[in-house]
Amino acid sequence: MSDPPPLLRFDGRRLVDDADQEVVWPELAVLGSPVAHSSSPRLHAAALAEIGVDHRYRAVQCEADGLRAALEDAHAGGVRGLNLTLPHKEAALAWCARVSSEAQEIGAANTLVRLDEGWMAHNTDARGLAMALQRALGAGLEAATRRVAVLGAGGAARAAVQCLRALGAREIRVVARRPERAAWSIARGAEVLAWRAESLEGVTLLLDATPLGLDPRDPLPLPLEGLRPGALVMDLVYGPAPSALLREASRLGLAHQDGSRMLVGQAALAFGMWYGGLPPVEAMARAVGLDW
Ligand code: NAP
Repeated sequence: MSDPPPLLRFDGRRLVDDADQEVVWPELAVLGSPVAHSSSPRLHAAALAEIGVDHRYRAVQCEADGLRAALEDAHAGGVRGLNLTLPHKEAALAWCARVSSEAQEIGAANTLVRLDEGWMAHNTDARGLAMALQRALGAGLEAATRRVAVLGAGGAARAAVQCLRALGAREIRVVARRPERAAWSIARGAEVLAWRAESLEGVTLLLDATPLGLDPRDPLPLPLEGLRPGALVMDLVYGPAPSALLREASRLGLAHQDGSRMLVGQAALAFGMWYGGLPPVEAMARAVGLDW
Protein backbone atom coordinates (compact mmCIF):
# COMPACT_ATOMS: atom_id res chain seq x y z
CA MET A 1 0.00 0.00 0.00
CA SER A 2 1.45 3.40 -1.01
CA ASP A 3 1.47 6.41 1.32
CA PRO A 4 -1.52 8.73 0.91
CA PRO A 5 -0.72 12.23 -0.46
CA PRO A 6 -0.41 15.01 2.17
CA LEU A 7 -3.55 16.51 3.64
CA LEU A 8 -5.17 19.64 2.18
CA ARG A 9 -7.03 22.13 4.39
CA PHE A 10 -9.97 24.44 3.85
CA ASP A 11 -9.14 27.53 5.92
CA GLY A 12 -12.67 28.96 5.87
CA ARG A 13 -12.05 30.81 2.59
CA ARG A 14 -9.61 28.86 0.46
CA LEU A 15 -8.18 25.39 -0.10
CA VAL A 16 -4.54 25.34 0.99
CA ASP A 17 -1.68 22.85 1.14
CA ASP A 18 0.61 22.10 4.09
CA ALA A 19 2.71 25.20 3.22
CA ASP A 20 -0.46 27.35 3.42
CA GLN A 21 -0.38 27.96 -0.34
CA GLU A 22 -3.71 28.13 -2.15
CA VAL A 23 -4.30 25.11 -4.40
CA VAL A 24 -6.99 24.21 -6.92
CA TRP A 25 -9.61 21.68 -5.89
CA PRO A 26 -9.06 18.08 -6.98
CA GLU A 27 -11.88 16.36 -8.88
CA LEU A 28 -12.87 14.39 -5.74
CA ALA A 29 -12.35 14.90 -2.01
CA VAL A 30 -13.43 13.83 1.45
CA LEU A 31 -14.18 16.62 3.94
CA GLY A 32 -13.86 15.94 7.67
CA SER A 33 -12.24 16.77 10.97
CA PRO A 34 -10.23 14.74 11.76
CA VAL A 35 -9.72 13.27 8.30
CA ALA A 36 -6.05 12.25 8.20
CA HIS A 37 -6.90 8.64 9.18
CA SER A 38 -9.43 8.21 6.33
CA SER A 39 -8.93 5.24 3.99
CA SER A 40 -11.09 6.90 1.32
CA PRO A 41 -8.18 8.45 -0.68
CA ARG A 42 -6.56 5.02 -0.98
CA LEU A 43 -9.83 3.31 -2.02
CA HIS A 44 -10.73 5.90 -4.64
CA ALA A 45 -7.19 6.21 -6.01
CA ALA A 46 -7.32 2.46 -6.69
CA ALA A 47 -10.70 2.78 -8.40
CA LEU A 48 -9.52 5.70 -10.59
CA ALA A 49 -6.41 3.75 -11.60
CA GLU A 50 -8.53 0.70 -12.40
CA ILE A 51 -10.84 2.60 -14.78
CA GLY A 52 -7.89 4.56 -16.22
CA VAL A 53 -9.12 8.07 -15.33
CA ASP A 54 -6.49 10.67 -14.43
CA HIS A 55 -8.42 12.38 -11.62
CA ARG A 56 -7.34 13.09 -8.04
CA TYR A 57 -9.10 12.29 -4.74
CA ARG A 58 -7.76 14.12 -1.67
CA ALA A 59 -8.53 14.32 2.05
CA VAL A 60 -9.43 17.87 3.13
CA GLN A 61 -9.36 18.98 6.74
CA CYS A 62 -12.46 21.16 7.19
CA GLU A 63 -13.94 22.41 10.47
CA ALA A 64 -17.69 22.45 11.14
CA ASP A 65 -17.95 26.24 10.82
CA GLY A 66 -16.24 26.13 7.40
CA LEU A 67 -18.44 23.45 5.83
CA ARG A 68 -20.89 25.71 4.01
CA ALA A 69 -18.10 27.82 2.47
CA ALA A 70 -16.15 24.66 1.56
CA LEU A 71 -19.17 23.17 -0.25
CA GLU A 72 -19.71 26.41 -2.19
CA ASP A 73 -16.02 26.80 -3.02
CA ALA A 74 -15.69 23.16 -4.10
CA HIS A 75 -18.73 23.54 -6.36
CA ALA A 76 -17.39 26.77 -7.87
CA GLY A 77 -14.03 25.01 -8.28
CA GLY A 78 -15.58 22.31 -10.49
CA VAL A 79 -15.38 19.39 -8.02
CA ARG A 80 -17.20 16.32 -9.32
CA GLY A 81 -17.95 14.54 -6.06
CA LEU A 82 -17.39 14.72 -2.32
CA ASN A 83 -17.46 12.36 0.60
CA LEU A 84 -18.32 13.62 4.06
CA THR A 85 -17.18 12.25 7.36
CA LEU A 86 -17.37 13.40 10.97
CA PRO A 87 -18.68 15.99 11.88
CA HIS A 88 -20.33 16.96 8.56
CA LYS A 89 -22.69 14.11 7.68
CA GLU A 90 -25.83 15.63 9.21
CA ALA A 91 -25.01 19.33 8.82
CA ALA A 92 -24.37 19.08 5.07
CA LEU A 93 -28.02 18.29 4.31
CA ALA A 94 -28.95 21.93 4.94
CA TRP A 95 -26.52 23.18 2.28
CA CYS A 96 -27.39 20.75 -0.54
CA ALA A 97 -29.67 21.61 -3.47
CA ARG A 98 -31.30 18.15 -3.36
CA VAL A 99 -31.37 15.28 -0.86
CA SER A 100 -32.05 11.66 -1.89
CA SER A 101 -34.87 9.84 -0.06
CA GLU A 102 -32.26 7.51 1.44
CA ALA A 103 -30.19 10.38 2.89
CA GLN A 104 -33.42 12.02 4.09
CA GLU A 105 -34.52 8.82 5.83
CA ILE A 106 -31.11 8.29 7.47
CA GLY A 107 -30.81 12.02 8.28
CA ALA A 108 -27.23 12.18 7.06
CA ALA A 109 -25.20 12.31 3.82
CA ASN A 110 -21.85 10.68 3.12
CA THR A 111 -21.69 11.28 -0.65
CA LEU A 112 -22.35 14.45 -2.67
CA VAL A 113 -22.77 14.44 -6.43
CA ARG A 114 -22.40 17.59 -8.50
CA LEU A 115 -25.54 19.13 -10.04
CA ASP A 116 -25.55 22.40 -12.03
CA GLU A 117 -27.38 24.20 -9.21
CA GLY A 118 -25.41 22.76 -6.27
CA TRP A 119 -24.92 19.38 -4.57
CA MET A 120 -27.13 16.29 -4.50
CA ALA A 121 -26.82 14.53 -1.13
CA HIS A 122 -26.78 10.72 -0.94
CA ASN A 123 -26.08 8.19 1.76
CA THR A 124 -24.39 4.94 0.69
CA ASP A 125 -23.70 3.59 4.21
CA ALA A 126 -26.88 1.48 4.43
CA ARG A 127 -26.31 -0.21 1.07
CA GLY A 128 -22.59 -0.54 1.80
CA LEU A 129 -23.47 -2.39 4.98
CA ALA A 130 -25.97 -4.56 3.07
CA MET A 131 -23.19 -5.50 0.62
CA ALA A 132 -20.93 -6.46 3.54
CA LEU A 133 -23.65 -8.53 5.24
CA GLN A 134 -24.62 -10.33 2.02
CA ARG A 135 -20.96 -11.09 1.45
CA ALA A 136 -20.44 -12.36 5.02
CA LEU A 137 -23.66 -14.36 5.34
CA GLY A 138 -24.64 -15.46 1.84
CA ALA A 139 -27.50 -17.95 2.11
CA GLY A 140 -27.40 -17.60 5.90
CA LEU A 141 -28.72 -14.02 5.75
CA GLU A 142 -32.32 -14.95 6.52
CA ALA A 143 -31.41 -16.92 9.65
CA ALA A 144 -28.92 -14.28 10.82
CA THR A 145 -31.44 -11.44 10.56
CA ARG A 146 -34.06 -13.09 12.79
CA ARG A 147 -33.09 -11.06 15.83
CA VAL A 148 -30.64 -8.22 15.29
CA ALA A 149 -29.25 -5.78 17.83
CA VAL A 150 -27.72 -2.46 16.79
CA LEU A 151 -25.54 -0.73 19.40
CA GLY A 152 -25.68 3.09 19.34
CA ALA A 153 -28.18 5.68 18.16
CA GLY A 154 -26.18 8.00 15.85
CA GLY A 155 -25.84 8.24 12.07
CA ALA A 156 -24.27 4.80 11.60
CA ALA A 157 -27.05 3.21 13.70
CA ARG A 158 -29.65 4.93 11.48
CA ALA A 159 -27.95 3.55 8.39
CA ALA A 160 -27.81 0.09 10.00
CA VAL A 161 -31.56 0.12 10.75
CA GLN A 162 -32.30 1.29 7.20
CA CYS A 163 -30.16 -1.58 5.87
CA LEU A 164 -31.82 -4.17 8.12
CA ARG A 165 -35.29 -3.07 7.05
CA ALA A 166 -34.25 -3.34 3.41
CA LEU A 167 -32.92 -6.84 4.08
CA GLY A 168 -36.20 -7.86 5.74
CA ALA A 169 -34.83 -8.41 9.26
CA ARG A 170 -37.56 -9.82 11.49
CA GLU A 171 -36.71 -8.25 14.84
CA ILE A 172 -34.52 -5.15 15.24
CA ARG A 173 -33.39 -3.96 18.65
CA VAL A 174 -31.62 -0.63 19.08
CA VAL A 175 -29.55 -0.74 22.26
CA ALA A 176 -28.42 2.73 23.34
CA ARG A 177 -26.82 4.18 26.44
CA ARG A 178 -29.25 7.09 26.12
CA PRO A 179 -32.40 5.31 24.88
CA GLU A 180 -34.21 8.63 24.33
CA ARG A 181 -31.73 9.34 21.50
CA ALA A 182 -32.98 6.19 19.70
CA ALA A 183 -36.66 7.29 19.61
CA TRP A 184 -36.39 7.75 15.79
CA SER A 185 -36.03 3.98 15.41
CA ILE A 186 -39.50 3.13 16.78
CA ALA A 187 -41.24 4.55 13.68
CA ARG A 188 -38.87 2.33 11.64
CA GLY A 189 -40.16 -0.83 13.31
CA ALA A 190 -37.36 -1.25 15.88
CA GLU A 191 -37.58 -1.73 19.62
CA VAL A 192 -35.40 0.44 21.88
CA LEU A 193 -33.70 -1.42 24.71
CA ALA A 194 -31.53 -0.34 27.62
CA TRP A 195 -27.73 -0.54 27.58
CA ARG A 196 -27.35 -3.85 29.43
CA ALA A 197 -26.34 -7.45 28.72
CA GLU A 198 -29.96 -8.76 28.83
CA SER A 199 -30.78 -6.66 25.75
CA LEU A 200 -28.57 -9.00 23.68
CA GLU A 201 -30.35 -12.20 24.77
CA GLY A 202 -30.90 -14.57 21.81
CA VAL A 203 -29.45 -12.14 19.26
CA THR A 204 -28.42 -13.70 15.91
CA LEU A 205 -26.59 -10.65 14.52
CA LEU A 206 -24.91 -7.86 16.49
CA LEU A 207 -23.91 -4.61 14.75
CA ASP A 208 -21.82 -2.21 16.83
CA ALA A 209 -22.49 1.31 15.52
CA THR A 210 -20.74 3.13 18.37
CA PRO A 211 -17.20 4.53 18.07
CA LEU A 212 -16.00 2.08 20.76
CA GLY A 213 -13.09 0.17 19.28
CA LEU A 214 -11.58 3.10 17.36
CA ASP A 215 -8.91 2.77 20.02
CA PRO A 216 -8.23 -0.97 20.54
CA ARG A 217 -7.91 -0.22 24.28
CA ASP A 218 -11.60 0.82 24.41
CA PRO A 219 -13.69 -1.47 26.65
CA LEU A 220 -16.10 -4.16 25.48
CA PRO A 221 -19.49 -2.44 24.88
CA LEU A 222 -21.56 -5.21 26.54
CA PRO A 223 -21.02 -8.88 27.52
CA LEU A 224 -21.74 -11.24 24.62
CA GLU A 225 -22.59 -14.47 26.46
CA GLY A 226 -26.33 -14.04 25.73
CA LEU A 227 -25.90 -14.11 21.95
CA ARG A 228 -27.17 -17.17 20.13
CA PRO A 229 -24.47 -19.73 19.28
CA GLY A 230 -23.46 -19.14 15.65
CA ALA A 231 -24.30 -15.42 15.80
CA LEU A 232 -22.32 -12.95 13.66
CA VAL A 233 -20.74 -9.96 15.41
CA MET A 234 -19.87 -6.97 13.22
CA ASP A 235 -18.03 -3.90 14.43
CA LEU A 236 -18.67 -0.98 12.07
CA VAL A 237 -15.37 0.47 13.25
CA TYR A 238 -12.32 -0.71 11.30
CA GLY A 239 -8.61 -0.41 11.94
CA PRO A 240 -5.35 -2.29 12.08
CA ALA A 241 -5.99 -3.88 15.51
CA PRO A 242 -9.16 -5.79 16.51
CA SER A 243 -11.50 -4.10 18.98
CA ALA A 244 -12.40 -5.60 22.37
CA LEU A 245 -15.73 -6.60 20.80
CA LEU A 246 -14.06 -8.63 18.06
CA ARG A 247 -11.55 -10.15 20.51
CA GLU A 248 -14.41 -11.26 22.77
CA ALA A 249 -16.43 -12.65 19.83
CA SER A 250 -13.35 -14.63 18.83
CA ARG A 251 -12.89 -15.94 22.39
CA LEU A 252 -16.53 -17.13 22.41
CA GLY A 253 -16.16 -18.81 19.00
CA LEU A 254 -18.61 -16.41 17.31
CA ALA A 255 -18.23 -15.33 13.68
CA HIS A 256 -16.98 -11.75 13.55
CA GLN A 257 -15.69 -9.01 11.24
CA ASP A 258 -14.80 -5.34 11.35
CA GLY A 259 -16.23 -2.48 9.26
CA SER A 260 -13.76 -2.66 6.38
CA ARG A 261 -16.14 -4.48 4.02
CA MET A 262 -18.83 -1.89 4.71
CA LEU A 263 -16.24 0.81 4.07
CA VAL A 264 -15.40 -0.70 0.69
CA GLY A 265 -19.12 -1.18 -0.12
CA GLN A 266 -20.10 2.42 0.64
CA ALA A 267 -17.06 3.75 -1.26
CA ALA A 268 -17.79 1.59 -4.30
CA LEU A 269 -21.40 2.82 -4.41
CA ALA A 270 -20.21 6.45 -4.18
CA PHE A 271 -17.70 5.89 -6.99
CA GLY A 272 -20.46 4.40 -9.17
CA MET A 273 -22.51 7.57 -8.66
CA TRP A 274 -19.63 9.82 -9.74
CA TYR A 275 -18.43 7.85 -12.79
CA GLY A 276 -21.38 5.65 -13.78
CA GLY A 277 -21.10 1.97 -14.59
CA LEU A 278 -20.23 -0.77 -12.15
CA PRO A 279 -17.57 0.30 -9.64
CA PRO A 280 -14.29 -1.68 -9.51
CA VAL A 281 -15.04 -3.05 -6.05
CA GLU A 282 -12.37 -5.76 -6.10
CA ALA A 283 -9.59 -3.27 -6.86
CA MET A 284 -10.92 -1.01 -4.10
CA ALA A 285 -10.95 -3.88 -1.61
CA ARG A 286 -7.40 -4.88 -2.55
CA ALA A 287 -6.25 -1.31 -1.85
CA VAL A 288 -7.13 -1.79 1.82
CA GLY A 289 -5.79 -5.34 2.00
CA LEU A 290 -9.10 -7.19 1.64
CA ASP A 291 -10.18 -10.03 -0.64
CA TRP A 292 -13.65 -9.10 -1.84
P1 NAP B 1 -22.31 9.27 16.09
O1 NAP B 1 -23.40 9.87 15.23
O2 NAP B 1 -21.45 10.14 16.93
O3 NAP B 1 -23.04 8.19 17.05
C1 NAP B 1 -22.34 7.40 17.95
C2 NAP B 1 -23.32 6.64 18.87
O4 NAP B 1 -22.52 5.82 19.73
C3 NAP B 1 -24.15 7.55 19.76
O5 NAP B 1 -25.42 6.97 19.92
C4 NAP B 1 -23.38 7.51 21.08
O6 NAP B 1 -24.18 7.65 22.22
C5 NAP B 1 -22.86 6.09 21.09
N1 NAP B 1 -21.68 5.97 21.95
C6 NAP B 1 -20.53 6.70 21.87
N2 NAP B 1 -19.67 6.29 22.82
C7 NAP B 1 -20.30 5.31 23.51
C8 NAP B 1 -19.92 4.51 24.64
N3 NAP B 1 -18.74 4.66 25.22
N4 NAP B 1 -20.81 3.61 25.11
C9 NAP B 1 -22.02 3.47 24.52
N5 NAP B 1 -22.44 4.20 23.45
C10 NAP B 1 -21.57 5.10 22.96
O7 NAP B 1 -21.31 8.43 15.19
P2 NAP B 1 -21.68 7.63 13.85
O8 NAP B 1 -21.55 8.53 12.68
O9 NAP B 1 -22.96 6.92 14.09
O10 NAP B 1 -20.46 6.60 13.74
C11 NAP B 1 -20.24 5.56 14.70
C12 NAP B 1 -19.07 4.71 14.26
O11 NAP B 1 -19.41 3.98 13.09
C13 NAP B 1 -17.86 5.57 13.88
O12 NAP B 1 -16.85 5.40 14.84
C14 NAP B 1 -17.40 5.08 12.54
O13 NAP B 1 -16.05 4.60 12.61
C15 NAP B 1 -18.30 3.89 12.26
N6 NAP B 1 -18.73 3.94 10.84
C16 NAP B 1 -18.18 3.04 9.99
C17 NAP B 1 -18.58 3.04 8.65
C18 NAP B 1 -17.95 2.04 7.71
O14 NAP B 1 -18.03 2.24 6.51
N7 NAP B 1 -17.38 0.96 8.20
C19 NAP B 1 -19.50 3.95 8.17
C20 NAP B 1 -20.05 4.87 9.08
C21 NAP B 1 -19.65 4.85 10.41
P3 NAP B 1 -24.65 9.08 22.79
O15 NAP B 1 -25.72 9.52 21.84
O16 NAP B 1 -25.14 8.77 24.13
O17 NAP B 1 -23.44 9.95 22.73
